[in-house]
Amino acid sequence: MNRIGHVIAGKTAGAFERVGPVYNPATGEQTGAVALASESEVDAAVAAAAEAFPAWRATSLSKRTEIMLAFHHLLVDNRQRLAAAITAEHGKVLSDAAGEVTRGIECVEFASGLSHLLKGGYNEQVSTGIDVYEIKQPLGVVAGITPFNFPVMVPLWMIPNALACGNTFVLKPSEKDPSPSLLIAELLAEAGLPDGVFNVVHGDAVAVNRILDHPDVQAVSFVGSTPIARHVYERGTQAGKRVQALGGAKNHMIVLPDADLDLAADAAVSAAYGSAGERCMAVSVVVPVGDIAGPLVDAIAKRIAHLQIGDGTDPASEMGPLITREHRDKVASYIGLAAEEGATVVVDGREESFAGDGFFLGVSLLDGVTPDMQAYRDEIFGPVLSVVRAGTYDEALALVNDNPYGNGTAIFTRDGGAARQFQFDVQAGMVGVNVPIPVPAGHFSFGGWKDSLFGDSHMYGPEGIHFYTRTKVVTSRWPDPATSQVDLGFPSNR
Ligand code: NAD
Repeated sequence: MNRIGHVIAGKTAGAFERVGPVYNPATGEQTGAVALASESEVDAAVAAAAEAFPAWRATSLSKRTEIMLAFHHLLVDNRQRLAAAITAEHGKVLSDAAGEVTRGIECVEFASGLSHLLKGGYNEQVSTGIDVYEIKQPLGVVAGITPFNFPVMVPLWMIPNALACGNTFVLKPSEKDPSPSLLIAELLAEAGLPDGVFNVVHGDAVAVNRILDHPDVQAVSFVGSTPIARHVYERGTQAGKRVQALGGAKNHMIVLPDADLDLAADAAVSAAYGSAGERCMAVSVVVPVGDIAGPLVDAIAKRIAHLQIGDGTDPASEMGPLITREHRDKVASYIGLAAEEGATVVVDGREESFAGDGFFLGVSLLDGVTPDMQAYRDEIFGPVLSVVRAGTYDEALALVNDNPYGNGTAIFTRDGGAARQFQFDVQAGMVGVNVPIPVPAGHFSFGGWKDSLFGDSHMYGPEGIHFYTRTKVVTSRWPDPATSQVDLGFPSNR
């Protein structure tokens, strides 16, 4: 069994006084034991990052760029290796895992433009002989706390920008799939990053709370569920830190009566069931408006019948298992609950049987769901798609806007004017027009509204640079060179 330790100052560490189990979700077998950090282990990682900070912030922009570009190349070269590490502990299919790595690489690509990104502004002669300019400086030691569902991509939403800006980093990845973070550490070291600039501590609430309270951690980036995001934001800001905390989601896909039915059905299936629905941008509610509802539900059900569910390492699999047995059982419980509350179970994922002890669950489609039902109110985070039928566009819009979450949403229509109106009206951070999962490209920033984000900074892209730097404004005046005690040759009558 793998013993998965921390990486502190370039060395593997870990007392292993407390450990957590790591599973292969496709077989149900425990494959590893991850060290759960004590407070003193977190302190050691923060101390390593603090020690590395002065030299790293003094490292030239061109050297930092060189390291980012080398890291970028290594990620590309190791894409399949990283994907295999993700699939082994998360369970998602290999193609999906490789896609996750690709989306993470985009963020490294963006951060490689750091010389441009860190340029400040300069105003000459704001007053006679006075110039004002702004410089962007790093914060110091920053930390990232990440969820299980994207063990490479989400850390890469944070790490490249944070390091490019001259900060040093402590990552606390999910204890459910901790190994990919060690590969990230290995590739950063291979790219030439000095020891201590990037550190990994594994753990649970003990590690997270120590990070939040630690006086030497200047900023915390968090991605995970809403209750923990709220906790991280409140405790971190109370300790005086800069915090961005991205939370859970309940993403609606509105389908107007004029939509391309096949496009919408394909999109609903891939966005609801891809990665077993364990994506913060998964579509979990489809809202057909008017008469398209019946044909759309039929088209989705027809496609579901062909979905291949199996071990993520099998190229034939389109969907893998869920992360743990407990989570699989919790997701399954929503299907019975929805039926009791009056929804129609069009496809019941519990009826599909799987050989072995993997954490598999078939996909489910619930029709006639209403906003008061538990399946609608909770973020299920599994392969269960609810259909809430709406009579009008306004009804559909009100559903999205009244929902406490505001991560992503999408509209399917052939009408540009309707799409434009939706983009104007809707209260969510990321909007897709005939695109079900509108994750912004790496040179924009990612973030939701309402209970999907605590703090005011979205992640990666330009907002990431803003989050990981603080500005210093210099107002300068130099004596007139004509008055110099040494004759510099400047005329005094200018
Ligand atoms: P989670 O909130 O359980 O865990 C996230 C992190 O918080 C992990 O590192 C975990 O160790 C830590 N943590 C867990 N319980 C804690 C506690 N009581 N105190 C302190 N720290 C604690 O989330 P998860 O199950 O790993 O991931 C799934 C969730 O993440 C979903 O809600 C999903 O929507 C959300 N998510 C959001 C985004 C986004 O961009 N908004 C992206 C990915 C995932």
